[in-house]
Amino acid sequence: MVVIEKCPVCENTETELFVATQDFFLTGESFNIVKCKVCSFVFTNPIPEKNHLTAYYESPDYISHTLKKWDVKSYIYQKIRKINIKNKFKIVSKYQNNGHILDVGCGTGELLKYFKDKNWETTGIEPAEQARNFAIENYQLDIFPENKLQQFGDSKFDVITMWHVLEHVVDLNDRLALLRELLKPGAKMIIAVPNIESYDAAFYGKFWAAFDVPRHLYHFSKQSLTMLIEKHGLQLEAIYPMKFDAYYVSLLSEKYRKSGIAAYPKAIINGYSSNRQASRSGNYSSMIFVVKRK
Ligand SMILES: [Zn+2]
Repeated sequence: MVVIEKCPVCENTETELFVATQDFFLTGESFNIVKCKVCSFVFTNPIPEKNHLTAYYESPDYISHTLKKWDVKSYIYQKIRKINIKNKFKIVSKYQNNGHILDVGCGTGELLKYFKDKNWETTGIEPAEQARNFAIENYQLDIFPENKLQQFGDSKFDVITMWHVLEHVVDLNDRLALLRELLKPGAKMIIAVPNIESYDAAFYGKFWAAFDVPRHLYHFSKQSLTMLIEKHGLQLEAIYPMKFDAYYVSLLSEKYRKSGIAAYPKAIINGYSSNRQASRSGNYSSMIFVVKRK
């Protein structure tokens, strides 16, 4: 295990325990999440060593969503994914009509395929080999492993997107500095992350599925994400909600709480409550941050 000595955002060393939780998704191992006493940034600490982290992604669930299955759950999942893709496209289109998009952590490439069909130039980064090969073979996309990020040279992108990716990136500051350089001046980066200040985060506590330790290394709020991007010469432009996430995260959290058959109705009630509270507070379960290269 690696102890993070300094807060990744403000570099101070003083932290306090935020929550003690577990890897409910895969291994059952315990992990602590701490909060910086100076800037309030919340992060998992300690974390597994970098080359050991990949083992925490080795679950059939990480790819199975893409395979065509014909049960009700898969049907709903596919439907929601289609709506999500359209919503993501709509948000990007508000800022940029066409050009070259880089999707970092593109998974099996469905979003990039959608952009490609709308005549965008598309490039993807995906560390998981299986997902990468799926995207290349099925959608003929240009998808590369992570080390490609250092090799783009002078190529610049009109939009860079990271959908539920930044919370997984070990070298957080290096990554943001690099991505900023890959943006054309004034171009947008779109960062979607779970929100620790949401109703569902407070409601589920250590069972909150979006803590997802040790895969999630950072646990953002509007305030901490804003501090982080400003440190890297980026400016917050807009925030959008991800309303389906409230239901999805509630359902997984209920599963982790071992709610059995009651998980579904409870997830619907809590997902709805989360979105309703957020309509007043702005603190949705997950949020999309549109940031601009200054
Ligand atoms: Zn800090």
